[in-house]
Amino acid sequence: MTSQGLYVDGVTVTFDGFRALNNLSLLVEPGELRAVIGPNGAGKTTMMDVITGKTRPDTGIVRFAARDLTKLDEAAIATLGIGRKFQKPTVFDALTVFENLELALKAPRGPIACLRWVLSGVARARIEATMEQIGLAARREDLAGLLSHGQRQWLEIGMLLMQEPELLLVDEPVAGMTDHETEQTAALLRGIAGTRSVVVVEHDLEFVRALDCRVTVLHEGSVLSEGSITHVQADPRVIEVYLGR
Ligand code: ADP
Repeated sequence: MTSQGLYVDGVTVTFDGFRALNNLSLLVEPGELRAVIGPNGAGKTTMMDVITGKTRPDTGIVRFAARDLTKLDEAAIATLGIGRKFQKPTVFDALTVFENLELALKAPRGPIACLRWVLSGVARARIEATMEQIGLAARREDLAGLLSHGQRQWLEIGMLLMQEPELLLVDEPVAGMTDHETEQTAALLRGIAGTRSVVVVEHDLEFVRALDCRVTVLHEGSVLSEGSITHVQADPRVIEVYLGR
């Protein structure tokens, strides 16, 4: 058992008597990349909402880096180094790639910092390195509004990285991407994990295979199966409730 990773134990969330999460338990090690799959209504979004403090569990433990998240509100949890990327990209179309990353670096420090903070060489180097990492170095001066859907998703991941999260939660990143962009996204997320934990909720099983990581299958708010994609795809319970539908 780790005290530093994400530790979810026995979490139940009820909406009007309906159990969206039912005794959910999950352990994600520091630096681990984890995919979470499951049919619609399985509880994937509710799980992400519980980790980020948007939804408070009725019962159970949610710990990250040895902090009890169930005692904290959303804003406090965000300061613990937990970043969340929603399905739809939210980048500033009228700013360049570089400016979006610069804003992501400065914005958490407030509006005055945004206006007055002259980037140091170190900060500039971080932005440069992030542009390389997300594959957009050649597009640095282009407006985000001119990027493809996939590139905008990478830019938003880069913006989250500027805040140096220890845990990154990513919701269906490849929906609407081309096959090539999907492959590149898998490589990007594999590269991001290692120095931080990454949890990816996804429907696209080819993409999950390309992530090459441990997979958790949710069903009716609990973990149905866990292991490699090959293992869970061969699990008769998974075939029955999910893949065989
Ligand atoms: P998934 O993301 O796996 O599709 P969700 O976590 O969105 O699943 O939903 C799990 C279940 O909880 C679904 O049956 C959904 O209808 C229900 N649910 C989610 N949020 C609410 C809410 N705010 N009020 C009532 N029911 C909800």
